[in-house]
Amino acid sequence: MADPVLPAARPGVAAMDGYHSPQVDVDVRLNTNESPVPPPAAFTEAVAAAVADQAWHRYPDRGATALRAALADAHGVAAGQVFAANGSNEVLQSLFLAYGGPGRSAAIFEPTYAMYAQIALTTGTGLVRGGRDADHRLVRDDVLALMADQRPDLVFLCSPNNPTGTVDPLDLVSDVVDAAAGYGGLVVVDEAYGQFAEASAATLLADDRPLVVSRTFSKTWAMAGVRLGHLLAPEWCVAELEKVVLPYHLDSLKQAVGVLALRHADAMAERVATLVAERDRLSAALADLPVTTWPSQANFVLFRPEARPGRDVWQALLDRSVLVRDFTAMPGVEGCLRVTVGTRQENDHFLDALREALDSPSTEGD
Ligand SMILES: *Cc1c(COP(=O)(O)O)cnc(C)c1O
Repeated sequence: MADPVLPAARPGVAAMDGYHSPQVDVDVRLNTNESPVPPPAAFTEAVAAAVADQAWHRYPDRGATALRAALADAHGVAAGQVFAANGSNEVLQSLFLAYGGPGRSAAIFEPTYAMYAQIALTTGTGLVRGGRDADHRLVRDDVLALMADQRPDLVFLCSPNNPTGTVDPLDLVSDVVDAAAGYGGLVVVDEAYGQFAEASAATLLADDRPLVVSRTFSKTWAMAGVRLGHLLAPEWCVAELEKVVLPYHLDSLKQAVGVLALRHADAMAERVATLVAERDRLSAALADLPVTTWPSQANFVLFRPEARPGRDVWQALLDRSVLVRDFTAMPGVEGCLRVTVGTRQENDHFLDALREALDSPSTEGD
């Protein structure tokens, strides 16, 4: 028999790198913006009871009714305005599947969260790339000009923006939504870090506005392992998203876990307050070191070492068992590293290691 001809993936897919943030075993892991502490014990105990209580032989509630009702309640919207999925990454992918695809386009403003470009590729959606100013802020006239010119079907705003921590002012978001309404575009505000920020675009939601706000349990809720995210949107939008997800995509246990988590909102809010205070302490400490930082309203801080190349500092930190995220090669944040806010001890460990790393000769760690 002749050698088999192995099938090639679609061009966009074959050319792709895939998403990777290295998972290295270190003492202080500050690279993926997770919560440094697990959820409260009362929550995990309730989850254990829920495990025993599941109808494991049955398919889950396809409409995730109880979870959506609880989320709607928490946000003061109707259940029909809530869409839930396996992490906000699946929320984002569902938006691309419903409103993007071949012949359509999505606008992003870089540097920003890498998954928008990645999902655009996997869904065959064209990408329209805009930029930011030197302090990583959106420039209103540039955003509006890009939209008038390209009429992107989807416009992704990320606020606070990953990896920069920058927040988009609500009046700017509002102008972007008005512009999209002029030609039939949909504006997505990704608020994965929304609870760490002072304001939310959720206050701008209305049934006649093409605006959706995406949230996740991964960061604030100390539940990255659960893979649960959701979206607040007009009902007409949620109805379209329901059509593109696989049936029963949310398993029964995850639905129950989400409902239980919302019952511990106070404990979660305390964690957020602690992390915000730690973030501000971390930012103040960084301001005394030979690094450039930018104001962050998320649970991470972007910084650029000035005394040594960022890549050497990243390695020197790793040599001291501290893992941060390396953005040194990303256009727009060249030379930058991003540190997730950890516990007080972790942040102190990081700061000590960074002081040493900024001092040590550049051959260190080779
Ligand atoms: C972490 C992150 C997400 C994805 O979160 P999951 O809910 O874990 O899929 C989405 N958007 C941004 C900006 C993020 O940083």
